[in-house]
Amino acid sequence: MTEKTVREVFEDAVRRLDAAGVPDAAWDAQELLTWAGGPDRTHFPLLKAAVLSEGAAARFEEDVCRRERRIPLQQITGTAWFMGLPFSVTEDVLCPRADTEVLAELALKRMGEKGLAEPRILDLCCGSGCIGISLARFLPEAEIVLSDISPKALALAKKNAERNAVTKQVSFALGDLLEAETEDGITIREQMSARPFDLICCNPPYIPSEEINGLMPEVRDHEPALALDGGEDGLDFYRRLAAEMKKTEDRAAPTFLLEIGCEQGSAVKEIFETAGAARVMIRKDLAGLDRVAEVDWS
Ligand code: GLN
Repeated sequence: MTEKTVREVFEDAVRRLDAAGVPDAAWDAQELLTWAGGPDRTHFPLLKAAVLSEGAAARFEEDVCRRERRIPLQQITGTAWFMGLPFSVTEDVLCPRADTEVLAELALKRMGEKGLAEPRILDLCCGSGCIGISLARFLPEAEIVLSDISPKALALAKKNAERNAVTKQVSFALGDLLEAETEDGITIREQMSARPFDLICCNPPYIPSEEINGLMPEVRDHEPALALDGGEDGLDFYRRLAAEMKKTEDRAAPTFLLEIGCEQGSAVKEIFETAGAARVMIRKDLAGLDRVAEVDWS
C-alpha cells in the first residue's frame, strides 16, 4: 500500500462524504481527521504534506465509512457539545441540538430573575440530560430531577452528570412522564405534591409520525424514534402534559418551558390556554423559528 499524505486522505474523504450526501462533508472530514489523531483545523495547512500514521489512517478510514452510512458525527466521536459542555451520545438519545440551547438559556434567565436560593427544576424527557445537566452546571445551588422513559437514555444521562461533575445536584427518575419513579420508588407526581418544582423543562417527542420517514438519515436511521415521534400531529405529549396539569391543583410548577416544532406554536398555545394557563408565550430559536413555548400557570 502506498502511503498517502494527510491532504490526499482528507480530500478522498471529502469526496466520499459528499457523494454519500453528508451536508458539510469538509467540516466532518476535518473533525474525523482530528478525532483519528491527525492534525486539527489549525495545524492542517502545516501538515498536509505529511504522511498520516498507520494507526490514524486506519481509524480515519473506519470512521469515514461510518459517516458515509450517515451515522451522526457526534455518535462517531461520542461527544456532542451543548451550552459549552460535553455530552456523551449514543443511538439511545437525540443528539443535543443548538436550537435547544434557546430553552436552556431562557431557563437560566427565568431562574436568575426569580432569585431563588435553591431552585428545584424538573427536566422531563431528559434524553442525554443536556438541559438538566447544563442547568445544574450553571446554577450550582439548584436541585435538578431528570426523568425519561428509556432506561438506556437515563443511564447515559447519569454518565453525563458524572462527566460534567454535577452528580450531587441531580437525581433521576425512570418512567412515563409524571409516573416516572426515582430509585426509592417515589414518582414525579408524588414529588410534585410534596413540593412543586420551580420550573419544568421538557423537550418531548414532537415530530408528526408520518414525517419521521422524511427526516435526514442521521435522525431517521440513527436516533431513537421514541424521542421523536409525537403521534399523528406531533402534539400528543403537550396534550398529555396539559391534561396532567389540569388534574394537579398547584400546577406542579409556576412555569413550563417546552420545546416545540416550528409550526406548532399556535396549537401548543391553545392546548395550554385551554388547560388553564395564565399566559403562553412562543419564543424563537436562532434561525428565527418558533421553538419554545413558555407556559405560566399564574
Ligand atoms: N428538533 C428535533 C429534530 O428536528 C426533534 C426533537 C424532538 O422531537 N423533540 O429532529
